[in-house]
Amino acid sequence: MEDLKSQIIKHNFSFKKSLGQNFLTDTNLLDSIVNLAGVDENTTVLEIGLGAGALTKALAKKAKKVYGYEIDRSLKPVLDENLSGLDNIEITYLDIMKEKLDLLEKKVGDDYFVVANLPYYITTPILMNFIEKAKKVKSLTIMVQEEVAKRLVSKENTEDYGAITVSIGSVANAKIIKRVPKEMFTPRPKVDSAVVRIDMDREKFGSFNKEVLRDTIRCAFNNRRKTLSNNLMNYFKFSREVADGILQKAGIEKEKRGETLSVEKFIELSKVIEEVKG
Ligand code: SAM
Repeated sequence: MEDLKSQIIKHNFSFKKSLGQNFLTDTNLLDSIVNLAGVDENTTVLEIGLGAGALTKALAKKAKKVYGYEIDRSLKPVLDENLSGLDNIEITYLDIMKEKLDLLEKKVGDDYFVVANLPYYITTPILMNFIEKAKKVKSLTIMVQEEVAKRLVSKENTEDYGAITVSIGSVANAKIIKRVPKEMFTPRPKVDSAVVRIDMDREKFGSFNKEVLRDTIRCAFNNRRKTLSNNLMNYFKFSREVADGILQKAGIEKEKRGETLSVEKFIELSKVIEEVKG
């Protein structure tokens, strides 16, 4: 593959910071991400944000098929050149957030892995969309800013623990599999990144009402500094008595704050709330 900088000049492409365009070129790094994602010849992959296609190429060499979404059509000449000769790639030039998930999953057909160096400005909405709504996604291996990575994998009673940690932890298992220094990107971003692998495990806590859990999480982290009892009163408009009764039934001390509850406890609490709300 021709040097990225000369290609960019040749195709008259200019990086758009607003689209989170920080590209990777190191083939060893890219191959190791593909390996750590567990991609093999039976895997169908969805890549979000192809950039100049370096990760796409590493994926296509190993996977059965790669479906890619790229918002910036001006990358087409670069991608056409870099991915020529690989016949298992299908690219859609579209904002991934504008694609209907059910249509995307119909097109992809099989169960699939998401593998992506995500644009930082939209990491959380993309991630939550797939975690909460996608039916056929088996795992997501994503490069994100290191600070976001820490939030995705954190444990209760830490500063990094928050709504997104609990949402992911309720249906999946997440771990950091690689740290990637900012020097690896062109252009170089301000902060380091990390690769997080999230394996879906939808039944890990049995069945529960996802809507009520979502509300419970919002309620608990609405105002992190407040006790759960106060947040329950504010968010659900329960009286003090009802709020404290719910906490007692869920086996949670009423002075506790949301960030002290394990994911399992959050699910228990959401079940009691559902019961009380009827
Ligand atoms: N995969 C490439 C790599 O690793 O070098 C590029 C990663 S770069 C961090 C993110 C890419 O996502 C950019 O190419 C950007 O144009 C694209 N992108 C940004 N927002 C997008 C969106 N909403 N839908 C699809 N692609 C998007």
